[in-house]
This record gives sequence, structure tokens and C-alpha cells, in this order.
Amino acid sequence: MPNVYFFGDGHADGRADMKDVLGGKGANLAEMTNVGIPVPPGFTLSTTLCIRYLADGRFPDDLRSEVQAALRRVEQSTGKRFGGDPPLLLSVRSGAKMSMPGMMDTILNLGLNDATAEALARRSGNQRFAYDSYRRLVQMYGDVVFGIEGPDGQDLFEDALARLKAQRQVGRDIDLSAEDLRRLAARFKEIVRQEAGCPFPDDPWQQLWGAIEAVFKSWQTKRAVDYRRVHRIPDDLGTAVNVMAMVFGNLGEHCATGVAFTRNPSTGEPGLFGEFLTNAQGEDVVAGIRDPEPVALLQQRLPRAYAELQRAGATLERHFRDMQDLEFTVEGDHFYLLQTRTGKRTAQAAVRIAVEMVGEGLIDRREAVRRVEPDQISQLLHPMVDPAATPEVLTTGLPASPGAAVGQVVFDADAAVERAAHGDQVILVRRETSADDFHGMVAAQAILTARGGMTSHAAVVARGMGKCCVAGAKELEIDEAAQVLQVNGRSVGAGDWLTIDGSTGRVIVGRARLVEPQLGGEFGTLMAWADELRRLRVRANADLPADARRARAFGAEGIGLCRTEHMFFEGDRIQAVREMIVARDHEGRQRALAKIEPMQREDFIGIFREMNGFPVTIRLLDPPLHEFLPRGHDEIAPLAASLGVPLEQLHHIVEALAETNPMLGHRGCRLGITYPEITEMQVRAIFEAACAVAAEGGDVHPEVMVPLVAHVEELRHQLNLVRATAEQVFAECGRRIEYLVGTMIELPRAAVVADEIATVAEFFSFGTNDLTQTTFGLSRDDAGRFLPFYVEHGILPDDPFQTLDAGVEKLVELGVRLGRQQKPALKIGICGEHGGDPRSIRFCHQVGLNYVSCSPFRVPVARLAAAQAALGDRAERDV
Ligand code: PEP
Ligand code: MG
Repeated sequence: MPNVYFFGDGHADGRADMKDVLGGKGANLAEMTNVGIPVPPGFTLSTTLCIRYLADGRFPDDLRSEVQAALRRVEQSTGKRFGGDPPLLLSVRSGAKMSMPGMMDTILNLGLNDATAEALARRSGNQRFAYDSYRRLVQMYGDVVFGIEGPDGQDLFEDALARLKAQRQVGRDIDLSAEDLRRLAARFKEIVRQEAGCPFPDDPWQQLWGAIEAVFKSWQTKRAVDYRRVHRIPDDLGTAVNVMAMVFGNLGEHCATGVAFTRNPSTGEPGLFGEFLTNAQGEDVVAGIRDPEPVALLQQRLPRAYAELQRAGATLERHFRDMQDLEFTVEGDHFYLLQTRTGKRTAQAAVRIAVEMVGEGLIDRREAVRRVEPDQISQLLHPMVDPAATPEVLTTGLPASPGAAVGQVVFDADAAVERAAHGDQVILVRRETSADDFHGMVAAQAILTARGGMTSHAAVVARGMGKCCVAGAKELEIDEAAQVLQVNGRSVGAGDWLTIDGSTGRVIVGRARLVEPQLGGEFGTLMAWADELRRLRVRANADLPADARRARAFGAEGIGLCRTEHMFFEGDRIQAVREMIVARDHEGRQRALAKIEPMQREDFIGIFREMNGFPVTIRLLDPPLHEFLPRGHDEIAPLAASLGVPLEQLHHIVEALAETNPMLGHRGCRLGITYPEITEMQVRAIFEAACAVAAEGGDVHPEVMVPLVAHVEELRHQLNLVRATAEQVFAECGRRIEYLVGTMIELPRAAVVADEIATVAEFFSFGTNDLTQTTFGLSRDDAGRFLPFYVEHGILPDDPFQTLDAGVEKLVELGVRLGRQQKPALKIGICGEHGGDPRSIRFCHQVGLNYVSCSPFRVPVARLAAAQAALGDRAERDV
């Protein structure tokens, strides 16, 4: 297999479907070349070579001749010579299979030395340009290849540049003369010699090999590794290196460089959307140092280039059948595309684009459903600033990534991580962000920057994470040392509250009121398509009528888990619950339970009404009783007084109920078996409520669920009690209700003897929270002490409490198989947290569950994930 793949002159060795070998960028450069888009010629060194190089620490023997041959073709194509006259200059960029924006390194203008710089100056007739290119090369090379930085991490090159501008008393780089820049290049070379201990290589070939090695090695940098961890990109993919002839957007005002999306990546609106700078290099746009202009203005400035951009965008969108993110350069009369890739987009844009592309005949409905990341759409369900409110707007920036968030200001990434670890909500405020801020952006609720455009690092990364971001809020003056920001004389310090509205760009003082989003339009259309495709039903975990209402609004088809204990904490009920716990005999408990029963009944009535026509699974009391009692003396004493129980006695009760491992003790059906009156009370409340709602004409489908069953006899005991109590209620109410009695499968024993349990159970619901903790022998409340370490160090691939673990999956599989062996039509669901996790949902589909149940906010995510599971493995997205 070759190590080097040439592209240029309308022909490329590679293709778009070779991303494994060429990386995303390299594969698309090849494809663009093949479909006739003007791309500067170049070649790609493969990811396979990268992996080999990182393992061996050296290149294979035949690589040199392969690279020489490819470079000769670039020389022929451009009519320039590497190290000669006219000088061929090269860009060297990383390009992994998955896009990792700003995470790895780039070197431009490679091939310059004192002689070729002079030749470039002469040929271009633009000395400033030639020496500016030269000093940029030395700077990038010093940074990327030699890793040069000052003792406190400062940028020695930028410092030297700033000193020179101060000496010349000018504010902008472009006010420096050609001679200044020539001297600056020489000064930069001196810095390299001092800091790296070796001279900057004048030999272009030496430059090229140094750059290639550095880009391969950049795969292993901490920031690249961190990025991969967050985005679940495997470490063994490696990066390709793309070497391409330089074209220049900085040769004068008739030149430009920019980035454009074929549709708006925030809203999905059709039409070119992007930014450009005249007389600039590509890095200037992305770095956010100068403020770029909207791409629509290119039509006025350089109309021919704009027309070419439109044509190329349309061709590529049709070719790839997806929204593209383009990098372009205009060098005088020549227009070039330097990159195309599938554009990252907000959830809102993803949904709109997918639906509109179906309308345009570019993709079909299945493809549209496949295109939207389930996890991403939870963004759409998130709050926005109440449109009716008139909050105090501090300033406005660019609406870089939608949604709204409230938090306290921090000025650096480490502080964001530290505060977030303490449970604080923070807003990361930076002049501009770079890859070094990534960990802070992950930890923050929102990001606010003073500089940069819609394609700045902050904007791109925030959109990728679905986090709200306002970028380029120009009025912000940030004093990082003093930890304060100022806007027109008004200051906001670290710890002060701000609200960031990434949909409008507003930066709001204090904590604005946020409201829930609307769910119609394209979102509704896409979800309807998903619903047609999926086989799994989606229910919600909801404990109260208000949750049930929200769940219905999000499309839940019933309740898969109503945790009745949550009702016990509402209002003043806890007092009656405590009375029940401290009661010394059956009669005392009955008296207290009689107080709770009407309250539970009212809640059930509310839930049945909301879920009219859909099943409602109500779980009998599950947690150990001590969870309802206070802990310290300070709380116990007043309780004793209010319950009229001697203090001593209450202390005694609290002590007696304490458990060494509360998750494995006297809880679940073990409570209902030892205190049958609790089960009776709950069942009475359920069926009285069901009869009441049925009497109003409601369509009720109760499913009574028994928790923490290990042995079939436990279930039989509770089932008999449920049936007997239900019969009493039906007799009293004069009507019957169809219902089911089933069990949770949340202990390994239950999964292993699921066939026996199925002789009694009318349905199963996998409680994978408990099943995970009991399978691992790991309490979920204590897991936080070491589980993050496990995941970080790759001992476990994921947090098993979020994504089903392979071992737990085996138990689920066994439980399903044995259960259905006994009762082929047994209805089976899942109600642990995993019911809302797309990867776990795929498993649930494959193993043949009937439904998943998850929190109301995850319901749309689950609907989409279930549809994608039904469509088979998701095709890998273009990157
Ligand atoms: C479970 O164990 O998965 C479950 C849903 O129950 P809980 O989280 O209430 O223990
Ligand atoms: Mg449980």
C-alpha cells in the first residue's frame, strides 16, 4: 500500500471513501480534485504511516523516494520549484479521520529561506508579503517543530513582534515595513537558535521532514488526547499529513481568504454563510485576531470569486449530499478551495437541514433520520431566555451557538474546571479561546469571548459540544489579571452572575428567567419520521402529574417507571410517612398509612389523566425506610416532639433502621413483604385512582411493578396481595379495571432465574441502575470515588451507569431469553438511566425489548435513537 497519495491537475490517487487512510481532509481534497473543483496540488501521507512512525520512531526506507516523486509532480503542476525560483512553498497540515478542529498542528509557507524569500519578493513584487510569509514560517516552525515558548509559557515570537511595533510606534502588523519584517524574520531565527539550541533549517527538505514528523507527533499531544476522550475518537486512528502548494490570500486587496458553510450552521437557513478577510492568510480568519466580514460582502468586493464560491459550494453539496464547510483562498484571478468537510452544526440546524434536504430530493427520510445525532437534539429541548422578559443587556456579541445558560463568571479554563467540580455553574469568559481552553469549555455552562467570528475556535467548539456561546462581543474589555470585565465603564467580576443567550448574542446581567422551547416545525416532522421507523416504544420515568404532562409533550407513550416514594416527600406528607415508620404496631402503621393514601390517590389520578390511553407502570415502595428519617440529633429532637414519641425511642428507631450498605438491605419488595400494609395502601391508592379516572371516561392502563425481586416467591407474595386488594377496590367501586402485575429485573439472581419469575410476572422491566451496581458489586452512590479514574485510564470503556456494560448486557440478554422461553409474549422494558442513552437503546432494540423508559427530557432522544437502531448500524458520518 502506498504511503503517499498525490492530488492535482484534475486527478487524485485517493477518494472520499478513503478517510481511514487519508484522513477526512485528505480524502476530500482528493475527491474535490476528482470532481473538478480548483484545489492547489499536493499529496497526503497516510494515517497508516503515522501509526507506523509513532510505533517505530522512524520512517520506512522507501518513503523518501515516494515523497520526492510526489513533490516533483507538484512542481510540474505549479511550474515552481521547491527551494528554487520561482519558489514553491508548501503548507503542511494534520488531518485525522474525524475532524478535530484546532487540535493538531499546521505549518505554512514551508520552503522559505533567505534566498527563496528574496526570490519570492522579486517575483511577487511585494517585499512586505515575502518577508511577512518568512517570519510566519519561522514562528510556526519554532512553535510546532521545536515547541518554543518562554519560561512562563509566553509567546516569545509575539513578544518580539509587539516590541517591534512599540519601537515603530504602530498598532497593526500591516503598518510594519518590508524591512521591519525582514529583520523580524532574522530575529525570529535567532530566537529559534537560542531556544531550540540548533539553527532554523534553511534547507527546504529538512524543513519538510521536520514538519511532517511534528504533525505526526501532534497526534499524541495532551490536548489532542483530551479531545479524543471527550469525543470518543479511538487513539489508534492516527492522523494523515496533507502537503499542498501554498496559494496566497495576502498578496494585496484583490486577494482574500475565508471560510463558508453552504447553509447557516446555527439555524440551517439555506445559502452561503461565512466570513472572509481581504489581504490575509487563512489562519487570520480562524484565529479571530482581525474581525472578518460576512461572506455576502464578497459579492461586492470580488464578484467573480463569489460566483466561483457559490458554484463550488453547490457542486460539493450535491456531490456529498450534505452541508459543507469550505475554506477558500482568492489569489488574484485564481479561486481555490483548500478544504471541504461536512459542516458541524447546531441541533436546530441539523434538524432543519435534514428535513429540507428531503424536500430538495437530496436525501430520503431514512437518511434524514440517520443524520441527526440523538444526543444533540436534547439541545433543542433546552431553555431559552423568556421572550416576554426585558432583561438588562450588558452587551451583544455574535450568536455563535444557541441555547441559554446562567452561571458565574470565571476567566480561565482551570478555574472553570475547579468551580464546576464543586457543582457551580460557570460561564467561561475569554478574550478568545484556543485549544488550551478546551477543558474549561467542557466544564462551563456557556462560553463568552470578546474576539473572533462565527467560525472562531470558541464558536466551532461550542457548537460541536452543543453548548451555548456568544463570541466576538467587542465591547468587552477583559482584564484577566484583575479578574474583571468592563463594558462601557460597567464592571463584572469573577463570581458575578451572567446569562448568555447564544441564540441572539445577548450577554445579560444577572440570572435571567429561562423558558422551555417549542417543539413543532421541522423538529416535529423529523420526529414523526423517526416514529414511523422505530420498533421500540418510548415511555418516560415520571413521578408526578407535571412530569407526566411534559413527558407526553415530548412524545412519551406511557410511563415506564413511577417511583412512588418521590410522592412521599411532597409537601407535608413526609410527616405522615415518618409516623408510619415509627409506629410500633400494625394498627399504628395503618393509621398513618390512612393519611398517606388519599394523597397518593390524588397524584395517581393526575398521572392517569395525563396518560389517558397509555400504560402507567407504578412501582411499589422501593427505598429503605431510613431514607425518610432525619439523621442528626438536631433534626431528630424536633421530630420526636412533633410525633409525640420519646426522644430516646426515636433515636433508637433511627439507629435500628440504619444499614451498613443501604442499597442492599431492607428495601424493595422486602419492605412490602414484611410490612404488607404498605403494599395494600399503595395498591388501594392506585386502583381507587384508576376507578375514579375511568368513571370520568378516562382510559387507564395500570401496571403494578414489584421492585428488587430476587426469588419468584417474593413476587408471588406481592402479586397475591395486589390481586386481593384490587378485588376489594373493584367491589367497592363497582367497576373493574384491566391491569398487569410485573416485576423489575434488577438483581443478577432475577435475571438468571427469569424463566421461573416469568411463571408469575406479567411483564418485566430491567432496572439497570441496580442491575449494574449489583453486577459490579459497586454502590452507585460510592462509585464517584474511583469510577472517573477508571474511565479516564481506559480500565472501563464508559461509565457503566450511563452506558450499559457488556456484562450487564449479558444478564439482560439472558433475562429476556429465559423470560420469553416461559412466556413468549412477555412484555419487557427497561427503566434504568440507560433507557435514555442512544448506545444502550441500540442494544435494547437488538435484544428485542418492547420499550425503553427514560426521563422526560430524554424522550425525543430515545425516539430518534430507537429509529436509528431500527435502521441498522448508523452509517459513519462524513467528517
Ligand atoms: C433501577 O434500578 O434501574 C431503577 C430504575 O430503579 P432505581 O433507580 O429507583 O433504583
Ligand atoms: Mg432499582
